[in-house]
Amino acid sequence: MKNNKKKKKGKGINYSTMRCPYCGSSVIYRSADGIYKDNSKNSMLYVCSKYPECDAYVRTHPNTNVPMGTLANRRLRELRKEAHKYFNRIYEEGYMTKQDAYRWLSFAISAPMSHTHIGNLGEYYCEVVIKESKRILANKEKAGDIKQEETA
Ligand SMILES: [Zn+2]
Repeated sequence: MKNNKKKKKGKGINYSTMRCPYCGSSVIYRSADGIYKDNSKNSMLYVCSKYPECDAYVRTHPNTNVPMGTLANRRLRELRKEAHKYFNRIYEEGYMTKQDAYRWLSFAISAPMSHTHIGNLGEYYCEVVIKESKRILANKEKAGDIKQEETA
């Protein structure tokens, strides 16, 4: 009962052909209701069809069907969240401009700028981003201490 007709939509990618990177099952586009404790923002997700046995999903950019990245299980979702937290601090705290920070990230994960999204990272590169971001932030704090000592 497979529909082998290829849909030609003219533009965009057919995300419904995505497969779960963990178990290879098909992926379902659905509301985050019942997956998020609070889905008051009406988030939409791509969820592994084996959910909840396979706990892999990714949310979409708001009001689109475009996934934020690749499907991730709980551990990877937490790593990406942490990587984003430390990475964002680099430009939020003024150590680099946002553009420079993304250029640095692109270098750190050996990816072209167009593919430089934390949502696409696997566990290994999340760890790299967390470690390298922490190093930059620590250096900044050290530099700040020296400045304070000089002016004291
Ligand atoms: Zn799966």
